[in-house]
Amino acid sequence: MTVNSTAQLDPRVQAFLESGPHKLFIGGQFVESISGKTFSTKNPATGEVLAEVYEADQADVDRAVEAAERAFAGPWSKLTPSERGRLIWKLADLMEEHLEALAQLDTLDNGKPIRETRNADVPLAIDHFRYYAGWATKIHGQVIENSVSHNMFTYTRHEPIGVVGQIIPWNFPLLMAAWKLGAALATGNVVVLKTAEQTPLSALYLAKLIQEAGFPEGVVNILSGFGPTAGAAIVQHPRIRKVAFTGSTEVGKLIMRQAAGNVKRVSLELGGKSPNIIFPDADFSKAIPGALMGIFFNQGQVCCAGSRLFVHKKVYDNFLADMSSYASKLKQGPGLDESTEIGPLVSDEQLERVSYFLNKGKEEGATPLVGGQPLDRPGYFVPPTIFTDVRDDMTIAKEEIFGPVVAALPFDNEEQIADVIRRANNNEYGLAAGVWTTDVRKAHRVAHALEAGTVWVNTYNAFDASVPFGGYKQSGFGREMGSYALELYTQVKSVWINLE
Ligand code: NAD
Repeated sequence: MTVNSTAQLDPRVQAFLESGPHKLFIGGQFVESISGKTFSTKNPATGEVLAEVYEADQADVDRAVEAAERAFAGPWSKLTPSERGRLIWKLADLMEEHLEALAQLDTLDNGKPIRETRNADVPLAIDHFRYYAGWATKIHGQVIENSVSHNMFTYTRHEPIGVVGQIIPWNFPLLMAAWKLGAALATGNVVVLKTAEQTPLSALYLAKLIQEAGFPEGVVNILSGFGPTAGAAIVQHPRIRKVAFTGSTEVGKLIMRQAAGNVKRVSLELGGKSPNIIFPDADFSKAIPGALMGIFFNQGQVCCAGSRLFVHKKVYDNFLADMSSYASKLKQGPGLDESTEIGPLVSDEQLERVSYFLNKGKEEGATPLVGGQPLDRPGYFVPPTIFTDVRDDMTIAKEEIFGPVVAALPFDNEEQIADVIRRANNNEYGLAAGVWTTDVRKAHRVAHALEAGTVWVNTYNAFDASVPFGGYKQSGFGREMGSYALELYTQVKSVWINLE
């Protein structure tokens, strides 16, 4: 394997990569898939094979569910909340010790810049586990004063659901695993988690740390595999009681239908086409980097990417000129190169998909101010692209591209902000939105009117384990993070005691 890089490869990563084919993590052990089948994961910076991993399918999901059930019936449920919290905290400590290795693995497998995995993805994942470690001791029901009788004592318990299935995407491989595991474990559930087929490695490395932290066997099971096989087996499994999914809206709809089989609880975090609105009174020294980061962070492969950039007519030309000038200077290269600011896309499929939208944009009459064409080099590189001459009804202004491509749309009539709000809301997605203004009244007014699960004012892509995240409309339902995520992983039991 050649790693196109200037960063020193962490010896732990080297050893990990050499230890393949990488096994599934079931019942606390690393095991081959029952079929013996493997698949390869590639380095998006070169297109070369990075590692082989065992491929789970239905039989492995069955094994994982059995292991999880044993853990739930046995050691896991016997732990006190504080013991559970300490294990989660211990895992976070181990992740901190292995921060560089985890960062490099996600960079190698996904392509994203090392400066992001080191400073954002992995620290956020660690913080996420610490945040939920704290919640483990704070899950409680209520004593309720009923009106039946003074001798009737009623209270609620917030109980875990049991075996939960979790299916994650490839855009933030480790962080998405953390978002899924944190709340599920803090509330006492057991998990069968399937990684995305493009990026299985960091979660398997995490599995080693889960083992080392001392979690009872079977509490967390991690499967590498594909959606229609392992993913569907999780969604349809009669003894998995809840499924949490992050990925495309198309697959989200399929999951809702398939989960009906055993009335599985479902939470979905799906796609987006988020508006980022620049008012003429915005502080441009913040708004320009904000708009750039809003779309080009993680090569635009972010569900909440600010991919529809509404800029007021008064400032449109200058704003776009400055933004294009910065965008054309972003240093693009392999993620492991320390100076890389924008890396390759995750896969050849994603390159094809984004290329389709680039061509569609041009065909429908939009003009790329910068970018507009994949780079002619090995790997899956698409340069930052800013389209102007875009109309709201064009494909690139309506559909999620999931690449470094922004559609810039002028708006006017500042007093009638209803107009830009109407255009911003005129989309089936509703994950996030951005507003840039120095007028606090306008900021609140617009934030309240936008149909989105998150509104960022004078910032973008801000995340914290304590702040809920999730969608309106076809961007999904259920909130991850914060106290809200606890509701996804607990069920309420009412207990009546007759004291007479
Ligand atoms: P996807 O929805 O196909 O895959 C996401 C996860 O779902 C993966 O783990 C995949 O294996 C699994 N999956 C796929 N089909 C399944 C099925 N039938 N049953 C159960 N699980 C299944 O996403 P993708 O193909 O990797 O990307 C396609 C598009 O999805 C992207 O271009 C983007 O628009 C969107 N996407 C959104 C997010 C997000 O965070 N919201 C993340 C990744 C992709």
